[in-house]
Amino acid sequence: MQQTRHRIRRAGRHRRITGLAAFAALALAALTTASATLPAATRSAAGPVATAEDSGLGPCRIGSTLGVQMSEGLPTPPGYARSTGEVRALNLMIDFPDAPGTGRALDRLAEFFPQTSDWFRTSSYGRLTYRPLAPVTNWLRMPMPFAAYGIERGSPYEPGYRKLVEDIVATADPKVDFSTYDLVNILVTPNAGPSALDTVLSVTFSGNDEAPIADGVPLANTSFVYSRQDDGSGSYTETGYRVLPHENGHVFGLPDLYTAEGGGAVGHWDIMSEDWGANNDLLGWHKWKLGWLDADQIRCASAPGSTEYALTPLATSGGAKMTIVPLSQDSGYAVEVRTRAGNDEAVCEPGVLIYRVKSGVDTGQGPVTISDSDRDSGGCTRRPNVHAELSDAPYRPGESFTDRRNSISIAVVREDPGGTYRVRVTRS
Ligand SMILES: [Zn+2]
Repeated sequence: MQQTRHRIRRAGRHRRITGLAAFAALALAALTTASATLPAATRSAAGPVATAEDSGLGPCRIGSTLGVQMSEGLPTPPGYARSTGEVRALNLMIDFPDAPGTGRALDRLAEFFPQTSDWFRTSSYGRLTYRPLAPVTNWLRMPMPFAAYGIERGSPYEPGYRKLVEDIVATADPKVDFSTYDLVNILVTPNAGPSALDTVLSVTFSGNDEAPIADGVPLANTSFVYSRQDDGSGSYTETGYRVLPHENGHVFGLPDLYTAEGGGAVGHWDIMSEDWGANNDLLGWHKWKLGWLDADQIRCASAPGSTEYALTPLATSGGAKMTIVPLSQDSGYAVEVRTRAGNDEAVCEPGVLIYRVKSGVDTGQGPVTISDSDRDSGGCTRRPNVHAELSDAPYRPGESFTDRRNSISIAVVREDPGGTYRVRVTRS
């Protein structure tokens, strides 16, 4: 029996929402969703990989670190769901005797689709075709009241989630062939449990080979979504779905980037950091990890000296997307261009984003840290539920980042008319 370790934690946060008195309600602690992953065992299902064809990128392929539950390193270990090609997602809408579903179950489904599929298509440049399927169109009634499962934020898999998954399997099995799906979304009736404004219960158990078996396969990669992440700004129908791509990010092997202190490490630059409010994309590092960027779109700044790189905006398709500046076997800097395009709708200062990736730091402990070009500025965003301070983190032409200890400097030389940025990396 594998030991399961859970790193779910409360991530209360304070936002600076200048001049938007109407959003005062947002001062309520909005909690980022949680993840709980189990050590991946040996399962034959292929995980997302950045393949061995990455010749020349050797030192930049920061590897996974042993002993880390959910690592930023490459490649993602087996056991997680595939993140390229067609991915079949089973969606089950469940309710309880003490929290009967209000409205149609398909309306609950419609809170997340087609937005979630569109989000993945856009972020993956069309490499992930996400097929949401709902073979049961009504609410699946669980046999016990919600409270009887003992589910709270931070609940481990045992015993509550195991019992819930067993009950879901028993209730749905006559109508569902579980063996034909790559991942499972459990969309819980929003009236079960607390409001997401108070406590975010949404959680994913990924790489869990010890999960109950249905139709011969373990329900190893399962996301649970509770309540509604409605920030009160009136944008729920536009942005409320974003909890699901976050939770599914865990199913594909991505760690949480928020920490016990909240979203101060990465802000709004990755959906694994913040999934409330205005839309945002994934970091280039995550896109590489998921197999959405090719080796020839990555530049490796491992040699001493000064080299200039041309990078195109991350949200657009094709071209060089990221320069990696390796520091050690388990850490390095990533450099990419973020503009207001694609899923990055909240970008208020486009430019070159620089961040440190550490594969030895676990999910929820801060495996990625953004370097803020303009510290203590308060940021440029006025969007609710966006970590304001880091919103103006990108470096503009003429600005540079320096790591004296490692003798590295990264300077933004200029922005070309087509939106390509030229970046000079110096290692001495
Ligand atoms: Zn999470």
